[in-house]
Amino acid sequence: MDFVRAMFVSALLFATSLSAMAQGGGGASFDALLNSAEKYRSSDSSRFTALLAEMESRKKEASAAQLQRYDYLRAYEAVVYKDEIKAGIETARRLFEGDAEPTLKFRAGSLVANAAALNRDFTTGLRYLERSLEIRNSVRSKVVRHEGLGAAAVIYNQMGQHEIALRYAKEILKDSPSARIRCGVSHARLSSEFALSRVSDSNEGISRIIQQCAEAKEPIGANLVRIILAKKLAKEQKLQDALALMDGALQEVESTKYPWLIADFRAVLSELKFDAGDFAAAEAHANEAVSYGKQVASSAALVTAYRTLYRIQANKEKGTVALELYKRYAESQMAHQSDVKARELAYEIVRHETQQKNKEIELLQAQQRLERENTQKAQLTTLFLAILLAGIVFWAFQIKRHQQQLKKLAQTDSLTGLGNRHYFTQKSERALVDAARAGEPASLVMFDLDHFKAINDTYGHGAGDWVLKQVGKTCSAHCRKVDYIGRIGGEEFAVLLRGIDLAGASRLAEDCRAQLAQIDTRDCGYSFVVTGSFGVSSTAQSGYDLSRLLSHADQMLYRAKNEGRNRVCAYTTEAAADHRSARRSPSLSVVNR
Ligand code: GH3
Ligand code: MG
Ligand code: MG
Repeated sequence: MDFVRAMFVSALLFATSLSAMAQGGGGASFDALLNSAEKYRSSDSSRFTALLAEMESRKKEASAAQLQRYDYLRAYEAVVYKDEIKAGIETARRLFEGDAEPTLKFRAGSLVANAAALNRDFTTGLRYLERSLEIRNSVRSKVVRHEGLGAAAVIYNQMGQHEIALRYAKEILKDSPSARIRCGVSHARLSSEFALSRVSDSNEGISRIIQQCAEAKEPIGANLVRIILAKKLAKEQKLQDALALMDGALQEVESTKYPWLIADFRAVLSELKFDAGDFAAAEAHANEAVSYGKQVASSAALVTAYRTLYRIQANKEKGTVALELYKRYAESQMAHQSDVKARELAYEIVRHETQQKNKEIELLQAQQRLERENTQKAQLTTLFLAILLAGIVFWAFQIKRHQQQLKKLAQTDSLTGLGNRHYFTQKSERALVDAARAGEPASLVMFDLDHFKAINDTYGHGAGDWVLKQVGKTCSAHCRKVDYIGRIGGEEFAVLLRGIDLAGASRLAEDCRAQLAQIDTRDCGYSFVVTGSFGVSSTAQSGYDLSRLLSHADQMLYRAKNEGRNRVCAYTTEAAADHRSARRSPSLSVVNR
């Protein structure tokens, strides 16, 4: 089972990382326990187990993050020491899917990958391997990151995916790994290149790698590289060099007590011995390799060893034994092949899944992009429309305001702020129509300032203007809201009073006249008296026609002037008669005063 060997080789070659992880601990005693457990995790299983038991009893002291680290160690214990692989996978899987910090997540994912592969569930193994590798850039610890990538390089080599393995190996080598990791990864790189028949190193270069592994105290790594060099030398027809290299290292290989290395080393050596014609040595090495059979089931080493044994017997022309060995060779090759096939299948499944997932992600991203663009477009359109609408509203408002200003300007006398003649006429005509319909009385008061020309002449035009404004204010103060007051000429004013008859209007006119005389002119700089002459007409005598009312009020105003000014004359029937006769004779009678 080369895959499992890959796990252990990688575990051995990269095992340094975890004590490095353990350095970060603080004063908290639970942290100290966690750090110790990390330290003894691979080197002292009984101490490790005891530490875990102690932590179990003190779980209450632990923070959420500490519990996650503890869970990881539990998962590790289950997989490596307790043979409870499924339970370990489940715990590590939960950690990986949860909210643990990236480094722990990465380690948990790698543990799931390794454990699933141990369980011969290569598909899950690869799935988690790939998912762990996806988050490698957020892993703080360089050693942990390298360990994960290194395991990936070894595993992909075992799956025959040498290009991928080479990529991962090179990624680590570029990132200045520690000496031990450099040794393991160099082996992975050489394995890939040897399988792809493009080893870039010279034989001396490979020797230097062996030297580097030895210096890093990695005899397993050194001898795995040595096997590659021996195979390369044999390929180059340098059989004796290859044999010298292997023979010289056999003792060191044995001293590692590592079955996978020993079996592989012996198998390759037996083949070299056979090629050199030393059948006895070939047989001895092959038998040694085969003796590890159970521990290294379905390995390439067994295939090689059985093939050599069969070839030796065939060479000796010992038909039955040779046939028996050929059967063993064929069986071991089949076992090895089925293992290889299972891994290839797993690789294909995961690759397919990854492609599918990437396509889905791309599709989703494209959809999101489209949605975002559409939303942006919609937002822009809405914004544009809103601005447009606001513009239109503002514009309409401005126009309306402008119109209102113009209208007001057209209706108002700018000096006094009263309605002008045109506006007064318009309003009064409408009011008279309403009053006629309602059968209500209405009256018209008209007045003209007395000797106004003399005010202008004596005190100046400014004083005249000031008087006109004061007159406007004084009269407005005496009117009700329903009444209309207008400046209908230079110093001539008119008031239309609704619901008021001739007598009421005459009283109001009289009030107004009295008020004019009260205006204190000192504010304009001069002291003089302002008076006006008033004419009053009403609907009862003149009807609801404005021009008739105006005409009759004007007649009475004229009469008031004639009678000495500063007085009110009302258009009664007899006053009208007087007026007519006055046109013929100069005698005039004064009404109201
Ligand atoms: P009477 O008592 O007969 O009405 O005499 P009067 O001087 O008031 O009448 P007349 O019609 O002779 O003069 C009106 C004057 O009002 C002439 C004009 O210069 C002045 N006047 C008209 N409009 C204005 C104005 O807006 N401001 C000023 N300061 N004077 C004005
Ligand atoms: Mg006048
Ligand atoms: Mg006048």
